[in-house]
Amino acid sequence: MDASNQVHIKNPAEISLMREAGRVNASVLATVRNLIKPGVTTADLNAAAEEILQKYGASSPFKNYGHPPFPASITVSINEQLVHGIPGKRKLQEGDIVSIDSGAVVDGFIGDAAFTVGVGEISPRARRLLEVTEKALYIGIDRMRVGNRSGDISAAIQKYVEGQGFHVVREYTGHGVGRQMHEAPQVPNHGTPGTGVPLRAGMTIALEPMVLVGTHRTRVLSDRWTVVAADRSLTAHFEHSVAVTEGEPLILTVL
Ligand code: MG
Repeated sequence: MDASNQVHIKNPAEISLMREAGRVNASVLATVRNLIKPGVTTADLNAAAEEILQKYGASSPFKNYGHPPFPASITVSINEQLVHGIPGKRKLQEGDIVSIDSGAVVDGFIGDAAFTVGVGEISPRARRLLEVTEKALYIGIDRMRVGNRSGDISAAIQKYVEGQGFHVVREYTGHGVGRQMHEAPQVPNHGTPGTGVPLRAGMTIALEPMVLVGTHRTRVLSDRWTVVAADRSLTAHFEHSVAVTEGEPLILTVL
């Protein structure tokens, strides 16, 4: 069976290792966040992330992932770029919103998380988009409880985001995470309550609302990675890797 089709339940020792990977990843993201200001290139951000990964003896599951191989350790996606932006010479500008997605492999387990932040002063609309997308993540996390199904998470995210007048992506989803960056189950940002996989203690899921202002439609640029809003409207992305427990959901990707 393909590993990506299988739900891998983690035991407490494995959850602890995932927590460590999550901590390292949080440290990468905190470092990158502190560097975000006008004039910084997206390659500078990637270089800073690689320095932190190296300091912890960690590696990036993004580097060389896929076809063509992703050439960097983080993805940096600006404004209409929803996810998978490739770091390079572009400089951040006042008023941009920038999404950073990072993964860290530590002792064979992966932490995967993302945030979006404004560069300097941003428009009220952009600010609202960030608030809604981040809140959608926490609404989803709150549904990660034994007794619920994966569709309950998806539906809660969709209902909240669409209720705020924004749109959730269809082509990209949250996912199980562990020794593999993408394990079962897929957890879309849209769905129907009471459907999908029953949640069990020890499941670890990277939940990642991706939200667009204009429509839910996206396209991929000619670099074959960068995903943009089809109408070039603003987009945002927040993500945490989270463990289902017998009690409260455990966010793995925090310091
Ligand atoms: Mg992810």
